[in-house]
Amino acid sequence: EFSQMLTLFQNAERFSSNIAIIDAKGSYNYKELLTEAQNLAGILLQGQPDLNQTRVAFMVSPGFDYVKTQWAIWMAGGIAVPLCISYPLPSLQYVMDDTEAEILLFGNEYQEILTPIVEKGNIRSLNIESLTENKSHSTNLPEISLTRGAMILYTSGTTSLPKGVLTTHANIEAQISTLVKAWHWSQNDYTLGILPLHHVHGIINVLGCCMWSGACIQFIHPFSVEEVLKAFIQTRINVFMAVPTVYFKLIQAIESLSKSDQKELKEKMKGFRLMVSGSAALPVSVMEKWKSLSGHYLLERYGMTEIGMALSNPYLGERRAGHVGFPLPEVQIRIVDENNKEIDLGDSGEIQVKSPCVFKEYWRKPDATNKAFTSDGWFKTGDIATIEDGYYKLLGRDSVDIIKSGGYKISALEIEEVLRKHPLIKDCGVIGIPDEEWGELVAAGIVCSEAIQKEELISWLKERLPAYKIPRNYIQLEDLPRNAMGKVTKNELKKLF
Ligand code: ATP
Ligand code: MG
Repeated sequence: EFSQMLTLFQNAERFSSNIAIIDAKGSYNYKELLTEAQNLAGILLQGQPDLNQTRVAFMVSPGFDYVKTQWAIWMAGGIAVPLCISYPLPSLQYVMDDTEAEILLFGNEYQEILTPIVEKGNIRSLNIESLTENKSHSTNLPEISLTRGAMILYTSGTTSLPKGVLTTHANIEAQISTLVKAWHWSQNDYTLGILPLHHVHGIINVLGCCMWSGACIQFIHPFSVEEVLKAFIQTRINVFMAVPTVYFKLIQAIESLSKSDQKELKEKMKGFRLMVSGSAALPVSVMEKWKSLSGHYLLERYGMTEIGMALSNPYLGERRAGHVGFPLPEVQIRIVDENNKEIDLGDSGEIQVKSPCVFKEYWRKPDATNKAFTSDGWFKTGDIATIEDGYYKLLGRDSVDIIKSGGYKISALEIEEVLRKHPLIKDCGVIGIPDEEWGELVAAGIVCSEAIQKEELISWLKERLPAYKIPRNYIQLEDLPRNAMGKVTKNELKKLF
């Protein structure tokens, strides 16, 4: 019997003969996953009883080896630090230095890029693919209490340098179980792993929920629209989760298919039970297009590295475009003004969260941790929202999306929604740029299929927005600046003006 009481491992034992993972190398059931993870844990422990929250960084491609490594680190009592596989060396070094990781695990393909890190520091490094076939020697695993640190994830770095977010096993269990409940996960589910595995979306919402439930995940790596569509047709997939830019790419690919292929795909997709979008605002146009191509209303939800998921459109019931639904089970939400007082219905303010999902601390940043909570324990998200008919609606981040101009507070997201309706605008990002007279001036970076005259655009907007919300400055771009999660980095965009 498996000794550690983490639900993930207990469930894996219960579902032992279910297929857990399919990747380019093969398919693996839960029994194999548990056994191989336990073997690797034994190697990590090297005879000592407990890694005792040693940070163990790992750079492994999405697939069986990744999950095995993550589980082994937890089994051995370490704190897992997943490295982004597309990061350049300086970003990797930043994470290694910041976490003071003592062990570094990697797959073959990353040996080269990691060499300078290994040579520089006092780090025990291990290529997990070159370990010789382990005999399943029995290893005593340490007891793991739920209050222990389990993982350090870095925020996406959309607004400033990424911050290390430490979550405990209890946090991770709460983050997963609330979603499993809300989105009806079961062992019959089959999903695709296409999202990066250094970020909460891929790790918790997709991988975590899937493994917790005894379901199956098929990894597609590297990401390719064609491979995703092929899996849609050929497998028993019924759950799919992605970020808005992925849906955008899939729409383009589907629209270029023949009518009969589109029809076949739509019939197949209609059989899915759930399709989710999150991590950035889902444009209403993408939601509508996706509905017409797949028959599905995407379920949009809101969350962050620090809090897991907090708001979700309903699994059953109306999913409203441009809205993020209601608080998830076990999650308390309030919307407050600058003085942390709850706002009147219809006003807007900052989302604050209290729940067992909320992280423990910013890694070795006590000041930042302190500042992030109110004196009575609410986490301050920095995201601004309002409530319409009971549905939460995000207006954007206070720091970059809420533009303060001439005494008004203007939501960049609202203006972006309008701009996207212009027939020649493919994508856009709205920001405020400093202005002596107005405080900030509304400006927009736009990606167009054909050049647009500024005067024409402004008169088109005048029919759709009040004058004070109309961007006065435009630049046309090939593409918007984005980070590894596909989020528009608005501070980079500002620099272009
Ligand atoms: P950093 O904190 O380093 O600037 P980040 O905030 O982008 O980066 P994450 O934790 O990955 O790092 O992202 C959380 C943020 O993503 C939220 O605070 C919110 O602004 C945004 N977000 C998440 N879901 C949605 C959504 N459905 N619609 C709009 N924004 C969303
Ligand atoms: Mg953030």
